[in-house]
Amino acid sequence: MADSQKKGYRYVIEHMEDDDESTEALPEWVQLEYSHMLKLVGPSSSVHFTSLSSTSIPPLTSHLASPKAHPTTSPILSLLPTLNPPIDFSRVCLLDPRAPKVLSPEDGESFDVFLYGGILGDDPPRDRTGELRKLGFEGRHLGEKQMTTDTAVGVTKIVVEDGVPLDKIPYTDFPTITFNKYESIEMPFRYVKDDKGEPILPPGMKEHLKADLNRSIDDF
Ligand code: SAH
Repeated sequence: MADSQKKGYRYVIEHMEDDDESTEALPEWVQLEYSHMLKLVGPSSSVHFTSLSSTSIPPLTSHLASPKAHPTTSPILSLLPTLNPPIDFSRVCLLDPRAPKVLSPEDGESFDVFLYGGILGDDPPRDRTGELRKLGFEGRHLGEKQMTTDTAVGVTKIVVEDGVPLDKIPYTDFPTITFNKYESIEMPFRYVKDDKGEPILPPGMKEHLKADLNRSIDDF
């Protein structure tokens, strides 16, 4: 079936990073991850960024510059009835590291919305996804390793839109990103790997990590 005829899904990222109200724009890593998600989802799918502060929406909208992006101040529960067609609660799947069942291609028939915590992964995880679990959504996990939110979105798309089982996707765990002979950083997450075996990062993230590394060295 042609890509354009494939069923589209709504991916919802419930923003849970306590924004520094003073700055308008979201942190750089959030903007890079959110842009990456728009590239990863299928042609008929869209991404809703919920629970954003009103000041962060204009800069995010211009940064994302995509008709598939839908930033809003509404939290997920307020968003669902406003969608066209309205989405029933039972058609929402929370991607939850602690869910009893693993995501499978068949879940593409059972759900229309996939929900994620918009959280910078902690190492070790602090189970902040638990705040969404309390809302009672049906959950699915993506394996035992923590992924970044954009990787979790990309993996969900490969499973439910492309029909590839989770354990057939090539991963690299806790990769070391090397900037030069002296500088490298280990990322405590599972990533999808490309055909060169490299972790698939959001465009611009490697440069951002290097700038961050240099900034932190300057702070010493
Ligand atoms: N540190 C946070 C998770 C950050 S990852 C915690 O411990 O809850 C950000 C989001 O990506 C999670 O809220 C979840 O929706 C999704 N995610 C990441 N890894 C996952 C996994 N292995 N299984 C299911 N969802 C996952």
